[in-house]
Amino acid sequence: MDYGRRGLVRKQKSLNSRRRKRANKVGLIAGMVLFLLVVGVCAMAACVGFGAFRGIIDSAPDISNIDVTPTGYSTFVYDSQGNQTAKLVSTDSNRIPVTLDMVPKDLQHAFVAIEDERFYQHPGIDMQGILRAMVIGVTSGHFSEGASTITQQLIKNNVFTGWTDESFSESVRRKIQEWYLAVELEKTMSKDDILLNYMNTINLGHSTLGVEAASRRYFGKSVSKLNLSECAVIAGITQNPSYYDPIIYPEHNKERRAQVLKNMRDQGWISQDEYDNVLQDDVYSRIQVVDNNTNDNAVNSYFVDALTDEILADLMKKGYSETQAYTLLYSGGLNIYSTQDPEIQSIVDEVVNDEANYPNGTRWYLQYQLTVQSSDGTITNYSTEMMESHFRQSNPYFTLIFNTKEDAKACEEEYKNAVVGPGDTVLGERDNITAQPQVSLTLEDQHTGNVLAISGGRGEKKANRTLNRATDTVRQPGSTFKVVSTYAPALDAGGLTLATTQNDAPYAYADGTPVRNWYGEAYRGLSSLRLGIQNSMNIVAVKTLVDITPQLGYEYLLDFGFTTLVDNEEINGRVFSDIQPTLALGGITKGVKNIELNASYATIANGGEYLEPKMYTKVTDHDGNVILDADEIRQTRRVLKETTAWLLTSAMEDVVTKGTGTRVNFGTTPIAGKTGTTSDENDVWFSGYTNYYCCTTWAGYDENTDLVGSESGIAKTIWRGVMEKVHENLPSSDFQKPAGIVQMTVCRLSGKLPVAGLCDGSLTTEYFDQDNVPTEQCDIHYQGTICAYSGLPATDECPFKTTGVATFDESGLKCIHTAEFMAQPNIAEILAQEQAEMDQAAAAAAASDAQAALNSANAALQEASNVLQTAQDNLVAAQQSGDANAIAAAQETVNTAANNYNVAVQQQAAAQQALTAAQASGGQTQTGAAGTASSAGAATGTTSAPAAAPAAVPQAPAGQ
Ligand SMILES: [Zn+2]
Ligand SMILES: [Zn+2]
Repeated sequence: MDYGRRGLVRKQKSLNSRRRKRANKVGLIAGMVLFLLVVGVCAMAACVGFGAFRGIIDSAPDISNIDVTPTGYSTFVYDSQGNQTAKLVSTDSNRIPVTLDMVPKDLQHAFVAIEDERFYQHPGIDMQGILRAMVIGVTSGHFSEGASTITQQLIKNNVFTGWTDESFSESVRRKIQEWYLAVELEKTMSKDDILLNYMNTINLGHSTLGVEAASRRYFGKSVSKLNLSECAVIAGITQNPSYYDPIIYPEHNKERRAQVLKNMRDQGWISQDEYDNVLQDDVYSRIQVVDNNTNDNAVNSYFVDALTDEILADLMKKGYSETQAYTLLYSGGLNIYSTQDPEIQSIVDEVVNDEANYPNGTRWYLQYQLTVQSSDGTITNYSTEMMESHFRQSNPYFTLIFNTKEDAKACEEEYKNAVVGPGDTVLGERDNITAQPQVSLTLEDQHTGNVLAISGGRGEKKANRTLNRATDTVRQPGSTFKVVSTYAPALDAGGLTLATTQNDAPYAYADGTPVRNWYGEAYRGLSSLRLGIQNSMNIVAVKTLVDITPQLGYEYLLDFGFTTLVDNEEINGRVFSDIQPTLALGGITKGVKNIELNASYATIANGGEYLEPKMYTKVTDHDGNVILDADEIRQTRRVLKETTAWLLTSAMEDVVTKGTGTRVNFGTTPIAGKTGTTSDENDVWFSGYTNYYCCTTWAGYDENTDLVGSESGIAKTIWRGVMEKVHENLPSSDFQKPAGIVQMTVCRLSGKLPVAGLCDGSLTTEYFDQDNVPTEQCDIHYQGTICAYSGLPATDECPFKTTGVATFDESGLKCIHTAEFMAQPNIAEILAQEQAEMDQAAAAAAASDAQAALNSANAALQEASNVLQTAQDNLVAAQQSGDANAIAAAQETVNTAANNYNVAVQQQAAAQQALTAAQASGGQTQTGAAGTASSAGAATGTTSAPAAAPAAVPQAPAGQ
């Protein structure tokens, strides 16, 4: 502060002022009155005890506990490019704090000149002013009149609230405390800080508190840019903001402004020339009548909604109570630097709201609440659920989804008419009609964990902090969960590889419920985990999770950051746990949040390191101190080995290039991802990433109606629509293969080392973590000791060993003849029974072979018969022609055909005999249904073949 030459000049001018002299005289008289009063008080104190007065001082708040720095500042939110995207305001928070160097000297002087001319001299209270107030107070009973110093006003604004309704004695008491505290404050705070806090605190009308907010409101610029003329307008408002309102009552303000300027001149803060010039300025024509700067009632975006929740939570983690956190956020003058990318967010908003992305068009979901008071005073609340069950009584298929908004309104009206009787009063009703199906989206930079854009839903957002489908809603994740719940842990810790196979064959959970594939009642046999991911195969996934245990899968999910899983929880008397084989397919108790599912995929995209998704980088308080730093707060941990993450990425690239997710492939850069569909098509998802960004989309109906037809493609359509545009100007970027990945050729059916000569027809190459490569030989293709009873590789104890080559449909199979099995007391009986079964089977096989031989003999006989018939016809024709050479040749052919026919007859008879013998030795009883049918067919053949034979063999005419 400048206490130099100018200060002296000012003092001198003040003394020269006639008006001042008069005031000083009045002050002198009042001072004498006060002196008498004080003497009286002291005398009373001496008699009655000093205690009463002392008590008033003692009951004043401790100055060291008083924070006169203003609270109630607006909080601003900025996007990643520094644009202001929101202003968070609660009542009394329309403030923007400034530092003293931002406040023009003219404005500082203007306040001092009009509010407290002796500010720089007095010790907190202005004795002259007090004398005047005492005189007026004692004579009129109104102590609130005038003469408060700037220090006192600051104390009053920040400490004494609700003082307008107090009694006379309370008023005296408060005034004494205020004096005391003002003096105390001056001992601990500089004049500059007191003036600054005052300027940041005062009410300046139109919901502005503090000079910066007022400057922006009235002049559309920062306080630092105000000229003398404008400073005088602002300072003129202070004493009575509604009366001196420069917008509504510019003439009042103009008068006051002139007083401010006159005081400034009289007190030496400005020259006569400055004074004369500034009076000519038409400052009121520059004042903004409409507020261009603030949008206090604006509906914040889903991003800002989620951001505020995140900041409240983070403040509470730092030890703030919920109330403190809320106050700080909405009136702490915070600057929140969000991670929102304005360009990506606008792409998201555009795609999500593009009607063309909803193949069946838009339908409408009605929610309705009604409160009715009947004539006897009873109040009844009607809920959306009650409305739905009302209509379901007559139509069991009724839903609250309508084709048009008008239909929804009509339904609402119909319900209202049904439940509101004559004499009833509607106390309140509220409806909410939202576009359906709905979507949600999260897009983050997996390398930083920064969330760049979200969509909490499509359609108009009508209020703040409404249902946010990206960050609040939990939905079943479907098959997107296979990767994070099953394949990630299987490769990372379960010892399995992408080449490991599972047999896609009929399979059921422990309770007997069959696991079904999305491709219906079809099974694809031995399939690698890579194929399982690519084609989203359910049985492969469930078998894999059962192999590694659901517990391991659950632990990985917790590491991936999911917070909505259920370990063991009683809900409505039933105990639920997500530690189940159904975890493989995303069948969980509650569901997951989009932002958390996206974070788990971002973990894979980020080489296996989890970065907690954050929506801000830092938050500073109104003094610029960093109070939240996302890098400090963010949870990070390694979930997967880098190699595991890359292997999963490799498999998920197949999803996009040739599996269930080809629709998302926009082709300009490699993409990895996974589709998700819940079994009843209530929810569809796509979670995927490029080397740049990770994005997750969901689509479904808010009230869980099934998606219909091509609506099941919405999640993929939105994902592609957003990501294609986001990547428009980005070069293609390959996923980087980390060290420790090796490539090997394995047997496709076992995923194990191929056996030369056995696996040659089913070789494939696959990537592996070098610490988790196949070391065992293929046991699907098998050559060696086989159990004759089971056909499986024999145990050492097997009594029915034989050698052979076989292909099995499961890895690691062995026959039942374990040592334990062989130790059973009645083992001899069991083995005899097994031997008998084998004998019967052998006989059945022999019978079946004999039947097959008879069938071919019958066919041969029929053929020979046909050939002979043709030869005989040719001979007759030759004889008629009389050509001797032709006749001889034809006769020769007939002879050969006749011989062949006779051989066929003999062979057919032998085959018939062999079948009869095989059947006699038990083969018939063991033949299955197919075998029986084949026997029946053979029997028909046996009788028909001789009938088809020519009745007689014509003899060759002798002597021709
Ligand atoms: Zn093999
Ligand atoms: Zn055996």
